[in-house]
Amino acid sequence: MTINDYKFAGKKAIVRVDFNVPLNENGEITDDTRIRGALPTLKHILKEGGALIIMSHMGKPKGKVVAKYSLKQIVDAVSAALGTPVQFAEDCAKAAEQAAALKAGEVLLLENLRYYPEEEGKPVGIDKEDPAYEEAKKAMKASQKEFAKTLASYADCYVNDAFGTAHRKHASTAVIADYFDADNKMLGYLMEKEVQAVDNILSNIKRPFTAIMGGSKVSTKIGIIENLMDKVDNLILCGGMTYTFAKANGGEIGNSICENDKLELALDIVAQAKAKGVNLVLATDCVAADDFSNDANTQICPSNAIPEGWEGVDAGPESRKAFAAAIEGAKTILWNGPAGVFEFDNFAAGSKAIAEAIAKATDEGAYSLIGGGDSVACVNKFGMADRVSYISTGGGALLEAIEGKVLPGVAAIKG
Ligand code: AMP
Repeated sequence: MTINDYKFAGKKAIVRVDFNVPLNENGEITDDTRIRGALPTLKHILKEGGALIIMSHMGKPKGKVVAKYSLKQIVDAVSAALGTPVQFAEDCAKAAEQAAALKAGEVLLLENLRYYPEEEGKPVGIDKEDPAYEEAKKAMKASQKEFAKTLASYADCYVNDAFGTAHRKHASTAVIADYFDADNKMLGYLMEKEVQAVDNILSNIKRPFTAIMGGSKVSTKIGIIENLMDKVDNLILCGGMTYTFAKANGGEIGNSICENDKLELALDIVAQAKAKGVNLVLATDCVAADDFSNDANTQICPSNAIPEGWEGVDAGPESRKAFAAAIEGAKTILWNGPAGVFEFDNFAAGSKAIAEAIAKATDEGAYSLIGGGDSVACVNKFGMADRVSYISTGGGALLEAIEGKVLPGVAAIKG
């Protein structure tokens, strides 16, 4: 079923959203992007005459009631965003009466799902090495089903609009879908958009395709790099992983960040790129600093000849040009992870050069997808968010989808 085809009039819809918004110490929302992201779905259901039961997690309360993670703190914000009062269920597993009393156009927000360990379905208080762990896991899976069944019992249909948790097989993101038939479960608009964006990168590729992978470590990006190797024309690997490659090739990297157990892997990536005809672009020069701080002394030097006591913290001018050249003229672009320690203004030039080149290529007709918290923060920092095609709300979910893994939250609905 699709959200556009479903007849919500007179129906109750239980909608999994990602309202895991950042709060300050006074419990005030500091960034409401995630609430705004779910509005098209929520407003559509209300406009069509449905009643809404909204559910989400917040933070990591680890299966216990932790006041600072209470969704009660966001009731007013959700109400303001929807333009209608929002009722609150203090216990997400005991909301049957409140759900049953809901009339068309009314909204009920459930308390944090992760107050129950059943949401994540992992046994608590028992070590993985413990011989009783497998039994505990089995028992937890059974109670997870019961928990999902309870949530499902509140509504006539289920909508999943939480892309950020789509890579998790949790009660509210996947297991619950078993209690609705195919005609009564669907993806929300945000999920549809995210799934489409991934498809544009994985299946619907217009060439040339340039992927830019940055961030601190090669180890956390290896799955995605390997999957992209079969798809891209240009692969820019930048950020902290530059120095693992430089060292693997016999370079001197001073104090730069490096994964010494990944040197072989780096050489293997270089060999794979060569074998597959992928244009691999690595930073040849860098901004080296004598301290990990914005006010450090800096010098430009080759990425493989960094003096003792100095560390590479950003891409150098020659590398920035090479990055821009590999992005210019691309028709499909994926960016995940900064090219330097962009949080410090003095080390943001490499990431800025990438953001600018992507914005320019997008102006010229490329499809550009930016994902993963830090690269999103980059385009926001440089004020270029409006000049890229799509900014994903998913961190881990996006990376897993691009690695080619099936997301349980999507599979539970689409089969
Ligand atoms: P990740 O979470 O792996 O995407 O990494 C993002 C982080 O990598 C950001 O906080 C950057 O500051 C950091 N980073 C990027 N380049 C470097 C570098 N050359 N040295 C140390 N950290 C870096």
